[in-house]
Amino acid sequence: MATVLIIGAGGVGRVVAHKCVMNNTTFDRIILASRTLKRCEEIQSELPNGAIEIATIDADNTADVIDLIERVGANIVINVALPYQDLTIMDACVATKTPYLDTANYEHPDEAMFEYKEQWARDEAFKDAGIMGLLGSGFDPGATNVFCAYAQKHFFDEIHTIDILDCNAGDHGYAFATNFNPEINLREVSAKGRYWENGEWIETEPMEIMQVWDYPEVGPKDSYLLYHEEMESLVQNIKGLKRIRFFMTFGQSYLTHMKCLENVGMLGIKEVEHKGMKIVPMEFLKTLLPDPASLGPRTKGKTNIGIVAEGLKDGKKQKIYIYQVKDHEECYAEVKSQGVSYTTGVPAVIGAKLMVEGKWSGHGVFNMEQMDPDFFMEEMMAQGLPWNIVELEC
Ligand code: NDP
Repeated sequence: MATVLIIGAGGVGRVVAHKCVMNNTTFDRIILASRTLKRCEEIQSELPNGAIEIATIDADNTADVIDLIERVGANIVINVALPYQDLTIMDACVATKTPYLDTANYEHPDEAMFEYKEQWARDEAFKDAGIMGLLGSGFDPGATNVFCAYAQKHFFDEIHTIDILDCNAGDHGYAFATNFNPEINLREVSAKGRYWENGEWIETEPMEIMQVWDYPEVGPKDSYLLYHEEMESLVQNIKGLKRIRFFMTFGQSYLTHMKCLENVGMLGIKEVEHKGMKIVPMEFLKTLLPDPASLGPRTKGKTNIGIVAEGLKDGKKQKIYIYQVKDHEECYAEVKSQGVSYTTGVPAVIGAKLMVEGKWSGHGVFNMEQMDPDFFMEEMMAQGLPWNIVELEC
C-alpha cells in the first residue's frame, strides 16, 4: 500500500490517475497535482467521490515539490508533467528520499535536444539517498525498452539489430493536431534524424529515411526514421547490438502542415518581438492547436507499437517482432483518453506498481531494460496492454 503523488494533469496524467484508482489495492492514497487546479478538478470529477485528492504545484520549483511531497507523505512520485520539470522533481525526490518515475527524458526549454546525461548524473545522489529512480516508463521509451529486454532474456544470445516501430493510425478529424503535448511532439519530429550503427551515431535530415511497414491490425504505413530517446540507453544495455533505429508513422497531411509551419517560423523556440511583446512562436502555436486531451472523444483507429529484433540463438539466426495494438475508442471508453495518452500512462502505473511492490528495486537511476522484463510483461497483459510475439523470416 502506498501514497502516490502524480505530478501533471494533462492527457497522460488523466490516464495515470484513472489507472491508479483501478489499482487502489496498491495505491491506497492518490494525489494529483498540477500547475492549473482546474485540470485536476476535471479529472477528479470523472472519478468516484474521494478517490483522489488534488493540489496545485509549480514543479519548476524544487522547494515547492519538496513541500508537497512532505505534506502528503508520498511513497512514490510519478512525474507526468513535461520533460522540462524532470530535474527539479528528481532533486525534490532526493531531498525527501522518495522514489521517482517519469516517462520522458529531460529537455531544456531553450534547446530542442533531449538526452539522459543530466538524469544519469543524479545516479550517485539517488544511491546516497537509498532510493530508486525509474526513467522513461511510458510506451516509447518504456514498454519498447522492456520488449528489448524480454527479447534478450528469452529469445537471443546476442541481438544484432533492433528497429522500434511506432504507428498511430488514429484519426481525430482535425487537419492538424498532435496526440501529446504539441511543443514536445513538434520539437521531436522536426529535429534531425539519428540512428546508431557499428558504435557510432549517424545523423540524417528530418524525415530523410522512410520505409513502409505492414503493421498487424492496421496495415502498411509510411514510417520515418527519427531520433528517439530510448536508443541512448539501449545501445549501452543490449548485448552485441550492431544497429538500432526508430521509425514513426506520419500521414501526408501532418507532414505538409508541419513543413509549412516550420517554413514560416512557427516551430521556433526562441523569443521574437510581436507588437512590443516577446513571444515564442512554438508556445503561441500550442495555444492555437487543439488540446491533445480534447482529442479523446474524436479519435478512431488503432495504435501499434513494437520492436523487431534480429540476432543469434544457439548459433542460429533468429528474428522476432513484439508488438502491442490498442484501439483509441476502447481507451476513451475506459479512461476518457485517446490511445497515445493511454499507452503512455498505463506503463507509468505498471512501473510504479512494480516499484511499490518491490518487484523492481534498486538504489540509483535506472532505465527500463535494466529491470527484469517478465513482471512488466505480465502486468501489461493484466492492465489493458496485451502484446503479441511473432517469428519473422531472417
Ligand atoms: P500535457 O501537456 O497534456 O500535460 C502536461 C501537464 O503538466 C499539464 O497539465 C501541465 O499543466 C503540467 N505542467 C506543465 N508544467 C508544469 C509545472 N511547471 N508545474 C506543474 N505542472 C506542470 O502533456 P502529456 O500529458 O501529453 O505528456 C506528459 C508527459 O508524457 C510529457 O513529458 C511527455 O513528453 C510524456 N510522453 C511520453 C511518452 C512515452 O511513450 N514515453 C508518449 C507521450 C508523452 P497546465 O495544464 O497548467 O499546462
